[in-house]
Amino acid sequence: MKRLIISILFLLALPCTFAFKQDLSQPVQLDWETHFKGKADMRSPFFALTAMTWKYSYESTVYRNRVVIKLKNEVSIDKNRSWVKWDKIKDPEVRASLLHHEQGHANIQYILLLEAERVLKNRNYSVNNYKAQISDLANQISSFFDTMQRNYDDETEHGGNHKMQARWDEIIQDKMDESRAALAELQK
Ligand SMILES: [Zn+2]
Repeated sequence: MKRLIISILFLLALPCTFAFKQDLSQPVQLDWETHFKGKADMRSPFFALTAMTWKYSYESTVYRNRVVIKLKNEVSIDKNRSWVKWDKIKDPEVRASLLHHEQGHANIQYILLLEAERVLKNRNYSVNNYKAQISDLANQISSFFDTMQRNYDDETEHGGNHKMQARWDEIIQDKMDESRAALAELQK
């Protein structure tokens, strides 16, 4: 019997502007005071930046030619690297809209968490190759959601395009519902 623990961390930082145990049940609810403690980058044209991490680790046990994986999977907001330019969000409407946009990033990260949980656990790994298989899957998941985060920023113009923001609100909500349902199905 062989036991091994592997831990990997992905970082993602998303700058935003505006013209204005891990809990699997719901995404973290952002608020300015709690989650944006970092020092603002004054050279950045953006009003806020949300930095998030995804961390997974696993314990593997190989026994009689079978590999059993115990997975730990968590996302978090990196408070000390997330910042907001307080002088830019004095207007209550801007303040609320920008936070709403930032919440979208946290919600997408929550979808990543659900999908990683579903995909990484629902797999039969090969004894000889499981480390590479897990790392490949994790990289695919990470790059898929990086792209989604960037598309979200591009298409909503970092929250400034209200029509596209409303469309993305729906896309994100639908994806959350889908991923929740798929994971619940798996855990039955
Ligand atoms: Zn953004």
